[in-house]
Amino acid sequence: MAKIAATAIGAIVALIAIIAAAVSGVVSAVLGGGNSAASSQPSPAALADIPGNYLALYQQAAATCPGLDWSIVAAVGKVETDHGSLIAPGVHNGENSAGAAGPMQFLQPTFDSVVAQHPPPPGGSTPPSRYNPHDAIYTAAAYLCDSGARDGRDIYGAIFTYNHADWYVRKVLDQANAYKAAQQSAPQQSGWAVPAHGTCSSGFGSRGGEFHRGQDIAAPIGTPIVAAAGGTVIDSGPASGYGLWVRIEHPGGVITTYGHNNRNLVQPGQQLQAGQPIAEVGNQGESTGPHLHFQIDVGNQAVDPIAFYQQQSAPPLCG
Ligand SMILES: [Zn+2]
Repeated sequence: MAKIAATAIGAIVALIAIIAAAVSGVVSAVLGGGNSAASSQPSPAALADIPGNYLALYQQAAATCPGLDWSIVAAVGKVETDHGSLIAPGVHNGENSAGAAGPMQFLQPTFDSVVAQHPPPPGGSTPPSRYNPHDAIYTAAAYLCDSGARDGRDIYGAIFTYNHADWYVRKVLDQANAYKAAQQSAPQQSGWAVPAHGTCSSGFGSRGGEFHRGQDIAAPIGTPIVAAAGGTVIDSGPASGYGLWVRIEHPGGVITTYGHNNRNLVQPGQQLQAGQPIAEVGNQGESTGPHLHFQIDVGNQAVDPIAFYQQQSAPPLCG
């Protein structure tokens, strides 16, 4: 993930551990565990937008779940109620028409069942209340954790469990990205990388009566496929015609698709930088030989990947 220096990661982990220990009296032993990256730091936009007490709660609550970045919890709080500041039924008292209440918009049965398994640490209401930001945010983090966020296993699914809509998941992930400070610059971070090294075979355009929406790159099975640019994984799994595919959303409404994969290495919700391995070349789905189907959509419109790479002054796609 983040290409920040190990010392910086250590400092961040230590800082958050100190905060968590100071506030809850319990050192979160899970930080740095699992296969997840260390928590991100708040961006200037996050510091300007999130009230200080909420920011501290998001960070402390997320620290109870390895692999759950605080920015995800904060983004849920933003999208649900603008960190408790939304004036609407159910935010400060009562319930909205769906029965949700409080800054994190919990249904009472959901809140009760999560609290039963993960009582919030001292500092909130007695008994825990949906309207109490401390209780609501700790419970939201526990709920996301149980729903797939643990170890970063399925962030997308965890957010989807919170609110069953793809638009909602995208909105939360976009918000979370805006809340994370830019990582220290890595040379390839802003650029584009060649997704797989091989021989460009079938190109973009009409092909035997149908329209081929990507560029095929022929390479042996098992050849590494890397993220063409930094972004967020939005799909990873089987897809009709593609065998296994990975789709990555990049800034600016750009989505890249990698199809016919032999094996996928990433999960939806995962944040990637250009050049990071995501899959292996395969021959699955409607494929007539081992190759990568590489597709670039800009605003839901497929574009010619070779031309796109030239426009971006990226390395030539076809060596
Ligand atoms: Zn293709």
